[in-house]
Amino acid sequence: MPDELLQRLRNFQTDAFPQHRSHFRLLVDDGQHPTTLFIGCSDSRLVPYLLTGTGPGELFLVRNVGAFVPPYDGSAGFHGTAAAIEYAVLNLQVTRIVVCGHSHCGGIRALYGDVHPLASNLAQWLSLGREAVLPVAEPSPEVLRRTEQRAVVLQLERLMDYPMVRERAEAGQLSLHGWHYVIEDGEVHVFDVQRGGFVPAAEAENAGTGPYRAHVGDGGVRELIDGCGVPFGD
Ligand SMILES: [Zn+2]
Repeated sequence: MPDELLQRLRNFQTDAFPQHRSHFRLLVDDGQHPTTLFIGCSDSRLVPYLLTGTGPGELFLVRNVGAFVPPYDGSAGFHGTAAAIEYAVLNLQVTRIVVCGHSHCGGIRALYGDVHPLASNLAQWLSLGREAVLPVAEPSPEVLRRTEQRAVVLQLERLMDYPMVRERAEAGQLSLHGWHYVIEDGEVHVFDVQRGGFVPAAEAENAGTGPYRAHVGDGGVRELIDGCGVPFGD
C-alpha cells in the first residue's frame, strides 16, 4: 500500500519547493525575521497562513490545544509555548503577538466535560482556560462561542504577565491581538479593547486590540473578560 504522506513529501520538493527556492535561500542566508508571533489553537481547520495571507518567514508559530498561554512564573513546569513567547519577543523582537481562538473549539468544549482518564496532561493544560467558563451545566452553542472569546482575552491578560511583553507593549513597541476565527464564515473577529468586545474584521478599525489598558488600572482586561462584549445572560 503506497504511503500517501511520503508521496506528498516528494511532491513538495519536486512541485512546490521550486517556486519558493529563491525565497527560502534568502531566508537561510539572511535568517528569519518574522514580525508576528502567532499563538493559535492546534485545530486542523485553523490555517494561519491562509487567514493572514502570509508565507514562509512571516509568522513565528506556536500552536496548542485552545491557544492557551501558560503562566510566566514557570509554575506549570516545562512549557514550549512560554519558551516560544520569550524567544519571539527577546530574540526575534516581534512587533505583534496574535492569540487566535476559533469556533467549534474542542479544547473549549472540553472545559465543560470530562477528559479521558489517561489525559492527565490535557486536564492540567485545560486549567489555563478555566476562568473563561460560564456557569452552565450544558453549554449552548452561544455559550461556547462566548467562552471561546473569553478564553482569548484571558490569554492576552496572561501574556501581559511576561515582563518582556508588558514592557514592550507599554512602550508601544509590541501590540497584542486577540482573534476569534469563525470557521464556517471565514471571518476573524478582532478583540477591541475600546469597544470591550469582538468586532468582525470587516468592521474593525485595526487588527489589534487597540491601546492596552491593563496598566491603567488593576482591572484592565480582567474587567473586560467579565464583560467581553458578550455578557452572560442577555
Ligand atoms: Zn481549538
